[in-house]
Amino acid sequence: MTASTIEPPLALLAELSHRCPLRCPYCSNPLALERASAELDTATWERVLREAAALGVLQVHFSGGEPLVRHDLATLVGAARAAGLYSNLITSGVLLDRPRLAALVEAGLDHVQLSFQDAEPVGADRIAGLAGAHDKKLSAAALVREMQLPLTVNAVVHRQNLERLPQMIALALGLGAQRLEVAHVQYYGWGLANRRALLPTIDQLERATALVEAERARLKGVLTIDYVLPDYYARRPKACMGGWGQRFLNISPAGKVLPCHAAESLPGFAFPSVMTASLSDIWYRSEAFNRFRGTAWMPEPCLSCERREIDWGGCRCQAFALTGDAARTDPACALAPDRALLDRARDDAQGPTDFVYRQIGAVASHQRVPS
Ligand code: SF4
Ligand code: SF4
Repeated sequence: MTASTIEPPLALLAELSHRCPLRCPYCSNPLALERASAELDTATWERVLREAAALGVLQVHFSGGEPLVRHDLATLVGAARAAGLYSNLITSGVLLDRPRLAALVEAGLDHVQLSFQDAEPVGADRIAGLAGAHDKKLSAAALVREMQLPLTVNAVVHRQNLERLPQMIALALGLGAQRLEVAHVQYYGWGLANRRALLPTIDQLERATALVEAERARLKGVLTIDYVLPDYYARRPKACMGGWGQRFLNISPAGKVLPCHAAESLPGFAFPSVMTASLSDIWYRSEAFNRFRGTAWMPEPCLSCERREIDWGGCRCQAFALTGDAARTDPACALAPDRALLDRARDDAQGPTDFVYRQIGAVASHQRVPS
């Protein structure tokens, strides 16, 4: 693709910090977590937000780790508002109190997305790796609604909490959320390291999918339910991030610009930094963003497949995690030559319940779990 045929990005995921009080075993952060000393300063983030708006970005998602560990968060929300960006705070909620939320509202925050690990405190705190986390989240949700911000509840589901999906839907309703995102764990990074403890059974998956369909119909106009299926039971992959370098930019705490939050797991990529190049240069001209854009890079069977501009060959990070080669067809596709790797992983996954919790040094950097 040439720069003139590339569309501008729609959304920026600004990972302000990898620090987080929680230790979720499916966290989408890389295994090699960045330390606070490496984080971009306030002025650099302000510049980046202006550059993103000039590039065409419409929404910024302030994420992490936990974005509330940054004491300049309200300043950055204000910078987003000044640049004309819609801002969403993606948070665990455990650090959210009345003064901080009031400051964010004053700065122009548009939306809050709050994660829940389960519907009841014992299981939720065990998954989060932090005692008392669930109760703090309930208080945070109440504050968000009191200050009249729209609320999305994010529930990451897996074998150890799927039985309580009905209660999670009831929880989102009771909290006054407008939207509930029921997202099955994606198995790269920490999720891959914990795959044997998290992958659901096919029976669990089928019951969950039927429940979501029924609840969507029952709650139409009251609660919107988004549902992200696990690739391990799919026949065809998802168009990961809407296609590599097509809609999203992700900026790591230290300023690396990535096509998705998991792309740091790919070896051999020199992802550019906001410290050495403009966002526009990175988006349109960097080797990293152009590497898997379009269809020219595809192997067979993708290259001659009628779905090649629908799912774009699936997820590059999953292809690497499972096969060791980011340029292979995603094994989530039943047509992929490496599909058997996924089938074996499913058969292997009904064993342990202990977690490798997210923390610095818990798993070797760039570790690949053999299938
Ligand atoms: S998934 Fe859990 S550990 Fe990771 S950033 Fe979110 S709340 Fe923190
Ligand atoms: S062969 Fe490739 S393009 Fe076709 S459905 Fe599978 S992953 Fe998608």
